[in-house]
Amino acid sequence: MAKLSAEQLQTLRQRLLERYNHLRSDIYRELHKIGREEDFKDLAGEVHDPAEASVADMIFEADIEAINTQALELQRIEAALKRMAEGDYGECIDCGDDIGYARLQAEPDALRCITCQERFEKQQPVRPTTL
Ligand SMILES: [Zn+2]
Repeated sequence: MAKLSAEQLQTLRQRLLERYNHLRSDIYRELHKIGREEDFKDLAGEVHDPAEASVADMIFEADIEAINTQALELQRIEAALKRMAEGDYGECIDCGDDIGYARLQAEPDALRCITCQERFEKQQPVRPTTL
């Protein structure tokens, strides 16, 4: 277990939970919106206007991408909360070193220390946008 005080852990846990609830309601709202966009897409298909139909497609795909990004963050937060419950929170998953409170404050769902994170991002130049 990383050297975090009970208060520090509590602060980070609170921030993770707030972000988690915020993301969940965002995703719910986006999904709800897509339900309507799908109706719009069907309507646009019946109107013989290809330009209008492609705009509907664009809106639809943009929303999916936003949801995927949010769903990925939600997964990271869930993983962080799980690690917290298991007592592994705050330790780098690659080298096992303490991630450090300053870094966790900036990014409470961080899984790696800054050194390993930079190496990880170099290996993955393109951020995954799908699950
Ligand atoms: Zn590390």
